[in-house]
Amino acid sequence: MARIDISISEVGPRDGLQNTKIFMATDAKKAWIRALAASGLPEIEVCSFVNPKMIAQFSDAAEVASDALTIPDLSVVALVPNLKGAHRAAEIGVLRLSLPISASEAHSRANVRKTVDEQLAELGAIVALRNALPADRRFKINAGVSTAFGCTLQGEVPEADVLRIAAAAVALDADSVSIADTVGYANPGQVRRLLSAVKREIGAKLDAAHFHNTRGLGLANCVAAIEAGVSALDSSLAGLGGCPYAPGASGNVITEDLVFMLESMGLRTGVDFDKLMHAREILVASLPGAEFYGHLAKSGLPKGFAGAVAA
Ligand code: ZN
Repeated sequence: MARIDISISEVGPRDGLQNTKIFMATDAKKAWIRALAASGLPEIEVCSFVNPKMIAQFSDAAEVASDALTIPDLSVVALVPNLKGAHRAAEIGVLRLSLPISASEAHSRANVRKTVDEQLAELGAIVALRNALPADRRFKINAGVSTAFGCTLQGEVPEADVLRIAAAAVALDADSVSIADTVGYANPGQVRRLLSAVKREIGAKLDAAHFHNTRGLGLANCVAAIEAGVSALDSSLAGLGGCPYAPGASGNVITEDLVFMLESMGLRTGVDFDKLMHAREILVASLPGAEFYGHLAKSGLPKGFAGAVAA
């Protein structure tokens, strides 16, 4: 396998689709995920095991995840909002689960109908489920600290709250912690400061950073995260998604633009541009009426651009 400097986790099939009103056909989801994997992306968050009554987009989560698990060399991640979701994911053999834990009490109640401490207790229950499984089926559990840079409901989120949750998740034996700017409030100075502080607190357990491009700072925040020592980033093809509470907002950091920036900087991603653009074509054809973003898709690569390997 190609050497990778920065590992990109594609979250479009989960975060992107979660915020898209249009239902994407199950076969189209599978074809899109296969095309994403074929481009060289090492990891894909393929679905959410949320109650389908809450988000109909994920009524086919088990089928989509089962298909993704047959793709060679792909790290398949599923979001689980609670223990019940973890059971469903574990049942079909997903080996990487991500549990969101809001740093904002108001967002926690709105998102998972639990207080922050109740959601930490849920993490403890999922860790117990993991430990009770036979070794070959034991999944890794990531605690995704969401609204870590601010919250549309609560406003400011104190950094001490983020540090407390990160430390508590590690104490509960989560395998890793990621830090998410769920609503696109973060700026690069804040990113460098907070992620450095989290790194001091939990060291190598700090895994990925997750940014939204709501206010156009997504890529700048990715650079700041790398400067703080993070080597895994989440992004979404075509910046799919958006937030119903932020008119005109785009979704996550745009995968193709992130790949271009990193490769330009001499940081290898393992991703092939042409194949990534093919995955974008599948996405665009499968979701008529959705909004798509991306500078690279419009402008193309600079003349003679060969990526990080030749840099
Ligand atoms: Zn997100």
